[in-house]
Formats: sequence, C-alpha cells, structure tokens
Amino acid sequence: MSTGSSSTKFHCAQCEKPEDKCECDKFCVLCQSQLDIRICKDGLMYCEPCRTACDYKTSD
Ligand SMILES: [Zn+2]
Ligand SMILES: [Zn+2]
Repeated sequence: MSTGSSSTKFHCAQCEKPEDKCECDKFCVLCQSQLDIRICKDGLMYCEPCRTACDYKTSD
C-alpha cells in the first residue's frame, strides 16, 4: 500500500545532499570519531555514543 517514498532522509549541512548521497568526510562534530557516523536532524554528523548521549535520532 505504501509507496515507501515518505521516509525523510536527513541532509548533510555541508553538501546538502541526502545522507546516502553524501560523500563528505564523515566524523563526529563533537568528538571527531569516525566510527558509525550518521547525519542527524541538524545536518551535522555524530557518532553513536554522542547520538545516544544527546538523544539525537537518525533518519531511520
Ligand atoms: Zn555531505
Ligand atoms: Zn562523537
């Protein structure tokens, strides 16, 4: 029933592309880690521990 097109991808604040198209260097803006980096709703990149600590959600 669903077309599956309603999911909202967060966009990178640097290149303004959706997360899956972003080719920027990915590192956490808080701790500079490069592990498990995801773009959050503010367009910035966070590692998993910082996302958890700040209660940021990824797009999925
Ligand atoms: Zn980017
Ligand atoms: Zn971090």
